[in-house]
Amino acid sequence: MTSILLVGSIGLDTLETPFGRAEDVLGGSASYFALAASLYAPVSMVAVVGDDFPDAHVNLLESHGIDLTGLQRVPGKTFRWSGRYRYDMNSRDTLDTQLNVFADFRPEIPEADRESEIVFLANIHPQLQLQVLEQVRQPRLVALDSMNLWIDIARDALDEVIARVDVVTMNDEEARQYADTYNLVAAAQSILARGPKTVIIKKGEHGCVVVGQSGVFAVPGYPLDDVQDPTGAGDAFAGGVIGYLASRNDYSWSTLRRALVHGSVVGSFTVQSFGVDRLATLTRPEIEDRYTLFRELTMIEPSDGTDA
Ligand code: AMP
Repeated sequence: MTSILLVGSIGLDTLETPFGRAEDVLGGSASYFALAASLYAPVSMVAVVGDDFPDAHVNLLESHGIDLTGLQRVPGKTFRWSGRYRYDMNSRDTLDTQLNVFADFRPEIPEADRESEIVFLANIHPQLQLQVLEQVRQPRLVALDSMNLWIDIARDALDEVIARVDVVTMNDEEARQYADTYNLVAAAQSILARGPKTVIIKKGEHGCVVVGQSGVFAVPGYPLDDVQDPTGAGDAFAGGVIGYLASRNDYSWSTLRRALVHGSVVGSFTVQSFGVDRLATLTRPEIEDRYTLFRELTMIEPSDGTDA
């Protein structure tokens, strides 16, 4: 089992969906990723919070075995973000982003984590993602997530960091915007041409597709009848994918295909409650059960009428 070095945002989120509202709850790309990935492998988290950050959240992360040596606690207010989902739950409006202590964040990787084999650069300013890469020695796998904001305002830094990672994850809208093409496979190929070996495109409730040197593989969205809050599904998905790869210590195409299903399963649980609530109680047996349902869901019989 390999441990994962994670750098990303921790925030206090205010979330509105057609099914309810939650104020100042634990959020941020790193929180979702860490709670998901720690179901599979040890995670060390590097992030920043202010002096208003509730101890209960620190305790929750610690109770999942997440190593918080690299968590900086500085005077000031914690990063805050608020978003509202429309009725279809796929489109979201950001209502407010307050960087607060994030504005002066400089990631400092603890000495013990500089040798990490797996590095996940969750969604933060690409300049900060580059600063992390300057501090790690020889990771075997570096993966990155990003968002439309950085494509808009920090394109050069994003280009630079994408050229230096092995795996890129983006949602469909971001991949189209970044590659400037509507077709998702073409968008993935254009990102691959910049250096990464693998591109994973997340399509919300419609599943995901991975494009790599060995081909293309797609997983549908798990059909749920009770979606409450899609926030963090992409980060939790990435936590499931990278966590599973770390637990197998193998990054082959067949392991990656299984990892994609794990990511989809973890993402599907995440959206069934507000914020990190469902992730916080999720267990591996629950994941394995839904993985089995996923296999049944996607099994296609041969067209000649025989059983597979
Ligand atoms: P997702 O739903 O996967 O896009 O992730 C939502 C999480 O991203 C929320 O918990 C936010 O706190 C966090 N977030 C939103 N905007 C930013 C930003 N500009 N930088 C870092 N994290 C952000």
